[in-house]
Amino acid sequence: MNIHEYQAKEVLKGYGVKIQEGYVADSPEAAHEAAVKLNAQTGTSWYVIKAQVHAGGRGKGEVKETGSRGVVLAKKLDDVKEKAAAILGGTLVTIQTGAEGKKVNKVLVAEDVYYPGASEPKEYYMSILLDRATGSNVIMASTEGGMDIEEVAEHHPEKIIKEWIDPKVGLQGFQARKVAFKLGLSGTAFKEMVKFITSLYNAYVGTDSSQFEINPVLKTSDDKILAVDAKVNIDDNALFRHPKLAELRDLAEEDPLEVEAGKSGLNYVKLDGNVGCMVNGAGLAMATMDMIKLSGGDPANFLDVGGGANATTVEAGFRIILQDPNVKAILINVFGGIVRCDRIANGVVEAYKSIGDIKIPIIVRLQGTNAEEGAKIIDESGLKVQSAITLKEAAEKVQAVLEG
Ligand code: GDP
Ligand code: MN
Repeated sequence: MNIHEYQAKEVLKGYGVKIQEGYVADSPEAAHEAAVKLNAQTGTSWYVIKAQVHAGGRGKGEVKETGSRGVVLAKKLDDVKEKAAAILGGTLVTIQTGAEGKKVNKVLVAEDVYYPGASEPKEYYMSILLDRATGSNVIMASTEGGMDIEEVAEHHPEKIIKEWIDPKVGLQGFQARKVAFKLGLSGTAFKEMVKFITSLYNAYVGTDSSQFEINPVLKTSDDKILAVDAKVNIDDNALFRHPKLAELRDLAEEDPLEVEAGKSGLNYVKLDGNVGCMVNGAGLAMATMDMIKLSGGDPANFLDVGGGANATTVEAGFRIILQDPNVKAILINVFGGIVRCDRIANGVVEAYKSIGDIKIPIIVRLQGTNAEEGAKIIDESGLKVQSAITLKEAAEKVQAVLEG
């Protein structure tokens, strides 16, 4: 699960990670109020206004309607309202959103922490993630912060520092010091960075996250180390242990069909093709998608209805697939193991009747326990549903209806 920057910063702060302070706002007036509060609190009169969407590249991104960037500076209080208004309610397009962009419902108004001082502010990169190959967590850091890290990784891999952490032992003091040292820091900034890395790692473990990306981490002109940005990805499978974090979910940021599928306990991922698939079991779903591809089709989705498929889940699956305007045919592929094929067939027929008026051809392939009874129910239902015994036959029937 992804969360917004403003939420991620609050979570990190709770673990003692120093952040760029700010307040979230959902209207230009609230943005002004947020700036007033910040001014009272920190004395700052420079602000940064940041679109809150689940996508990176906001700094370089553009709001379609107004031409504003997704991250803008306001050097006086009186500019905040207007600059926030140019972002709020708009559609932000960044390299990560695709051409359609993302609607901005909230902005974060934060203190501009790039103030002048004894030294130049300097941006670093830091992330923590799970390295499945070694079964450990890895901290990645670079002096090349603020910019496209993929580019750094490709052209200057030597500029990316990696430190692997055994999850059973946890982060050791010498490891945090090693990273801070390799980043070229000394004195106060070095000590601050060690604290930053330590609390960041504690936050990563404490929240059961699978990925943290802080880009940039900023060394301010007075040697503070702060998180200026925060991309936090929490492991969905651990959310049951974190009801407070689960509440941070923003459904407006997720695909509406995927949200609806989740409510019905279905595992659905939308794809770009034209053949809707409904399958029980993730492995069989993958094989079915391969088969559709092999016979020249293109899957419109991945949908695993799970082991206990029945009329209700089949109907929910149907409804979700049918909402995708690209779907030209539906292939149902169910292996009757624990569930019997005749029950699934009845479920399909019931769902079909209950939704009514389905114009799209449906091919059903039922295999396993009571497969023949299942096929008979489908064939005798009088509905525009075709049955198939083998997967190859099913895929060919799909192709035939697409071409016909
Ligand atoms: P992203 O583009 O979505 O990754 O958003 P970031 O939060 O990383 O912000 C983009 C860029 O805005 C950063 O790389 C910084 O260079 C710049 N930025 C963010 N906060 C401030 C700030 O307080 N002052 C100044 N001058 N620049 C900032
Ligand atoms: Mn960033």
